[in-house]
Amino acid sequence: MYTVEMLPEDPVKKHFRLNDIQLRGLKKLGLETMRDLLYHFPARYEEAGAETSITGLVAGVSVTVYGTIGKLEVRRSWKRKIPVGEAVITDATGSIKVMWFHQPYMAKKFSAGMYVKAVGVVSGKSGKPYLANPQVTAADPTEAGLFASPSSSKLKAKSYFPVYPESRGITSLWFRHALEKVFPIGRAQETIPDPIPKDIVDRYNLPDLKSALVYIHKPDERSHAEAARKRFAFEEIFAIQLARAQERAENNTQVSFPILEGERLAEKFQRSITFTPTSAQQRAIADILTDFEKPHPMARLLEGDVGSGKTYVAAATAYAVVQSRPPRRESGTLQVAYMAPTEILANQHFQSFIEYFKELPINIALITGSGCKKFPSKVVKDGATDISRAQLLKWIANGEIAMLVGTHALIQKSVKFQHLAYAIVDEQHRFGTRQRRALAHKGDAAPHFLSMTATPIPRTLSLTLYGDLDLSILDELPPGRAKITTTIVKPDGRAAAYEHVREQLKAGRQAFVICPRIEEPDPDKWNALQAKSAKAEAKRLAKDVFPEFKVGLLHGAVGAKEKDMVMSAFAAHKIDILVATSVVEVGINVPNATVMMIEGAERFGLAQLHQLRGRIMRSSYKPFCFLLTESKSEVSIKRLKALAETADGFKLAEADLEARGAGDLLGRKQWGVTDLGMKALKNVKLIRAARLEAQHLIEEDAKLSKYPALAARIASSRELHQE
Ligand code: ADP
Ligand code: MG
Repeated sequence: MYTVEMLPEDPVKKHFRLNDIQLRGLKKLGLETMRDLLYHFPARYEEAGAETSITGLVAGVSVTVYGTIGKLEVRRSWKRKIPVGEAVITDATGSIKVMWFHQPYMAKKFSAGMYVKAVGVVSGKSGKPYLANPQVTAADPTEAGLFASPSSSKLKAKSYFPVYPESRGITSLWFRHALEKVFPIGRAQETIPDPIPKDIVDRYNLPDLKSALVYIHKPDERSHAEAARKRFAFEEIFAIQLARAQERAENNTQVSFPILEGERLAEKFQRSITFTPTSAQQRAIADILTDFEKPHPMARLLEGDVGSGKTYVAAATAYAVVQSRPPRRESGTLQVAYMAPTEILANQHFQSFIEYFKELPINIALITGSGCKKFPSKVVKDGATDISRAQLLKWIANGEIAMLVGTHALIQKSVKFQHLAYAIVDEQHRFGTRQRRALAHKGDAAPHFLSMTATPIPRTLSLTLYGDLDLSILDELPPGRAKITTTIVKPDGRAAAYEHVREQLKAGRQAFVICPRIEEPDPDKWNALQAKSAKAEAKRLAKDVFPEFKVGLLHGAVGAKEKDMVMSAFAAHKIDILVATSVVEVGINVPNATVMMIEGAERFGLAQLHQLRGRIMRSSYKPFCFLLTESKSEVSIKRLKALAETADGFKLAEADLEARGAGDLLGRKQWGVTDLGMKALKNVKLIRAARLEAQHLIEEDAKLSKYPALAARIASSRELHQE
């Protein structure tokens, strides 16, 4: 019996004998300490396969067999020199070989002639089947199904076991055995302090940490495993919520430049614009202006479908800021920074702000990786001029630039503002928390902060992932937009779709053709062959399909200068059809482009497809979207149908979340949320409970000094979310 004390901080290798392959396997899984091991949760649980006699077993089937074990031996596989434990199990009908890869000691656990039960999956070619890494336990001959009554509870209890994320040499069986050693000794799972305060554990009927660790790895019943999973999901969401609530509390300790005459100034702006804001826009503007009056920086997320007019909201509120004086100053203005995710967009927004602010005597500048510009210009009437970076940095620092638009270049250390009062980030889900912070700490006073996103995020997700932000939603499009028609096009409908596009082009409209890939696929990768490449498609369309129209090409690998050229040419209608990869996903504003064909539509997420088609909904011309697919999968077609039938981005996002999970919606890596957490993000009740508790706790003890285990847990989850 193993008696050495196991502590949570102990390295795994201190307690288990591991060969090199297994050491690498553990490393790959990120398991260093005993604590890591305990927190490596099963991906699922499997019922043992049906009990069967040994003869005639076929590969791939899960089985439970009973018999006498023999021919126990340890050897190394002749090819890879892997240590293997072997045995043969024999029943009345035949025998089957058993192999324990990397776990030779299994062969020493039994002695020849013992009666055993083996649960596992049959491997090997036909004629030579074997059980790979089966779960083998000593059995009572009367236990075998052949003799026992079918309702024997003993059998049921034992036929349920965890399946783990594995790595070479570290199998589910290895985990089961490792934990079998850990649990009886206790210390490892019992000395980890429970991060969830006891009263919360009790309030929601959650198992405490000790029990949950045992339940999740060694459940006697399915309900135990479920209770444990619920607990760990709660723990994860709770930790994220706490981190957000802390950020929120910290934000409220900071001081900002108050903007007191916002309302009057924003009205002045609105009078200078020809259209009337929608009521959703008015609400959002009012939210922001109210925040501006508070002594603490605003932290707000503005969510709205493409074309709902977010930039207008940003402009109306930015206008109020660039028209306000810094405190105790006779001259100069407060400053605004606007960060866009790509150069194309930064350029486009620079132009929009010039347009929106043309009546104001202020300087607007652009900073990107490929250069800097300033408006107004002494040389170019009504236009912007290129200026040097050094010159621009000086003007930003001495406050002469009131409005700075840029890409990531905007958050570099060298960019210093004099009175940065308002920071706006477009498409914020593309920026990490760290980058957001970098922007927020550019001046003495913390700027008011507005994030804008066109990715419709279901409420449960935004409550968690953006829990530190207040929310304004633009749930209505400006009036006069024609309704979009979205059509699913199967291969036999392609020609007709092209004719439809041709009609629109003849009527003076422009079209996007979106392809899933840039280049022709590598012919060795057969599975990539289906996806159309933007390059080849542009050629084909120009030559064979639309010879009478001008076709342009845009994709992620094109240099910034060329991108700008192509975009401007498209905006100026020198190009009729723009073939592109999903780089056009965000924000490009070409109102005359009202037709879009999306090749390999089934490859995109619903939210992404919805964003893409938003590009063609920017005018009063009727937009047409064609989803081209060769997929025969019913699930794919059903998803595309949902897109064709609803125009509401939030509904689509909910549907995507339901069908594919939060991981697909957001990109798993970006958020550092585990699979368990991602699943929990669908659970509205759990999220609301976690949020409520987190808020209470932070109100009572913002630093969590009374809850050190919880503080530590958050520090580790924050690390994950920084990336
Ligand atoms: P978003 O950033 O949400 O995609 P924009 O702010 O770029 O949307 O607006 C899309 C287009 O609609 C722009 O051409 C803009 O001038 C126009 N627009 C915005 N708000 C209104 C409105 N209330 N009425 C009419 N047109 C509007
Ligand atoms: Mg926009």
